[in-house]
Amino acid sequence: MNVTDNIPYYIYKQALDNALDIIVISEVDKNDPGNNPIIYVNDSFTHLFGYEKDEVIGKSARILHGEDTDIKSRDKIREAITQGWPIHTEIANYGKNGKKFWIDLKMVPLYDDRGEVTHFLFIERDLSDRKSREEQLYQKATIDGLTKIFNRQHTYQLATKTLEKTIRYQEHLCLLLLDIDHFKAVNDTYGHQVGDDVLTKLASILKEQVRKADILGRVGGEEFLIVLPEIAQDEALIFAERIRKCVKQADWSSLGLKDKLTISIGLACYKHNSLEELIKHADKALYQAKNDGRDQVQIYSSESE
Ligand code: GH3
Ligand code: MG
Ligand code: MG
Repeated sequence: MNVTDNIPYYIYKQALDNALDIIVISEVDKNDPGNNPIIYVNDSFTHLFGYEKDEVIGKSARILHGEDTDIKSRDKIREAITQGWPIHTEIANYGKNGKKFWIDLKMVPLYDDRGEVTHFLFIERDLSDRKSREEQLYQKATIDGLTKIFNRQHTYQLATKTLEKTIRYQEHLCLLLLDIDHFKAVNDTYGHQVGDDVLTKLASILKEQVRKADILGRVGGEEFLIVLPEIAQDEALIFAERIRKCVKQADWSSLGLKDKLTISIGLACYKHNSLEELIKHADKALYQAKNDGRDQVQIYSSESE
């Protein structure tokens, strides 16, 4: 005989009631295997999800699912229930008032004396704090603190991946390197704070103009890179001209600027180059745009070397 066999039921019951982890027990419904009505939840459950016990007893745990509860996690749980397997996964659950929680979920089948699965035990932990810390770290590592678009390192990482795809599928790809004209004068005339505001506003203008598949990042103090996948030179030029005009026509006076702000753009398109080489080409074209009087787009051409 096992020592624990002598422990009375009420001890187990109170141990579960007081556990810091969420405990849920559901019953296997032989007539309807997809339906596993909840027969027990502890206080940690009601505390986190905001349901009273009698609001969930008899219901399926599906009441906790919502918009971000991904199909894969649901399928994994459903499969484990039908097969009588244990499972350990992460899933988005929703409380009574609609609040989302990231949950670490361990589910184990419970067997009767004959070895039949009669119930499932769910032991759950709220991972929301960890998830939001992870999200904060990711933001910090990938997003530029001032303009809230991708930082240089992440822009290059995404650009590298996109270029790999371009090569694999023999597609087009173009790069735009943008630089504000006479930005030093903006700082000198209006102060560094206004300079920062100009950078932020420019980033949001660019963000509005790019497509979902494009990559936009701040790659220098007042330099921005836009990667345009699946776009040939003609179309890229039209796009570059559009943003050049858009920046020029924006309302810069609201930031206190007396003159219009203009940008110069260097355009380079993929012709079996590495990313490094493409950026170098866009930079050369940008240099040309600056030399030719600024407020213009220049296309890189090997002949001008
Ligand atoms: P050009 O037309 O040739 O591009 O002239 P420019 O004055 O824009 O170019 P330059 O490279 O001489 O100056 C860039 C300036 O950008 C210098 C620097 O003070 C400013 N800058 C760089 N990063 C920031 C920033 O984060 N905030 C602010 N306010 N200014 C910045
Ligand atoms: Mg510059
Ligand atoms: Mg500049």
